[in-house]
Amino acid sequence: MTRVVPAEEGAIAEAAALLRRGLLVAFPTETVYGLGADATDDRAVAALFRVKGRPAHNPLIVHVAEAAAAEPFAVFDERARALAERFWPGPLTLVLRQRPGSAITRSATAGLDTVAVRVPAHPVALALLRAVGRPVVAPSANPSGRVSPTRAEDVASELDRRVALVLDAGPCTIGVESTVVDLSRPDRAVLLRPGGLPRSELEAILGPLAGAEPGEARPRSPGRLASHYAPRLPVRLDARAVAPDEALLAFGEDAPEGALATFNLSRSGDLREAARNLYAMLRAADRSGARAIAVVPIPSEGLGEAIRDRLARAAARRPEPAVGGAGG
Ligand code: AMP
Ligand code: MG
Repeated sequence: MTRVVPAEEGAIAEAAALLRRGLLVAFPTETVYGLGADATDDRAVAALFRVKGRPAHNPLIVHVAEAAAAEPFAVFDERARALAERFWPGPLTLVLRQRPGSAITRSATAGLDTVAVRVPAHPVALALLRAVGRPVVAPSANPSGRVSPTRAEDVASELDRRVALVLDAGPCTIGVESTVVDLSRPDRAVLLRPGGLPRSELEAILGPLAGAEPGEARPRSPGRLASHYAPRLPVRLDARAVAPDEALLAFGEDAPEGALATFNLSRSGDLREAARNLYAMLRAADRSGARAIAVVPIPSEGLGEAIRDRLARAAARRPEPAVGGAGG
């Protein structure tokens, strides 16, 4: 059994030591639980890709405790500085040009000349990053293509024994992955993935964001591949009625009746609460004994954009019945 321990001081110090020795440790962030590896250690990063079954062409996000710690390997222009100043620590990932001679191992960035960077807003993540003293890559702590974990027990049950230690600090407060913005070209700011920071907050500073073009999205942000975040059962979106053998993900007060099991993302219609509940409820629906999962329409404002994005990928046709091969 994987060791799951409360994220107290001694456990954080132990986790940091394990990471420095090239082992993998799962830890909480405000978005989802991450599977960490030393971003400067090629063997550790290779092990991370293996454990997740993540395709090598899907680059990882490098986590640091403060923006200054990213300066040695990433180039911040004025826009990047303004966003870092305003939103870090927080659920925003910046894709920046990478400095020549950067200490980040090539496999972590899938050989690209850009690097994705984030400062997470979770006291345990920050304490761990400070104790490690090196940049740490940390994709979601789940097998590639599957539902991301927002609780330590979900990490333990799905990555059992392939991770040295899981730091447990309870459920994540945001519940969906970070928003990813590509600033690597001076003339464009591209929203590669909607996430925990709503688009409107970014656009208030950057002006309107470009969408990723299909060709652009492919090698540069494979997290955008069609099937991802997928439960085992088929997912049906925008359901206005439900069959008796379906599980229902509802939102708001008047959910359709008659489902085998109903999970309400937010009775009060609060999209932040819905984001926080999304992955745990997808998992519960998946285990409910239903034939399929139906999801009511979700509004697209605020965190709704990220929720709809994840649900669309959860519903996308899978390349194969078992573990989907896309993303991570
Ligand atoms: P994940 O770690 O799976 O939550 O997702 C990381 C996301 O950031 C994926 O969509 C990656 O493709 C994207 N990403 C990481 N590094 C880069 C990069 N250098 N350029 C573009 N996208 C990146
Ligand atoms: Mg992931």
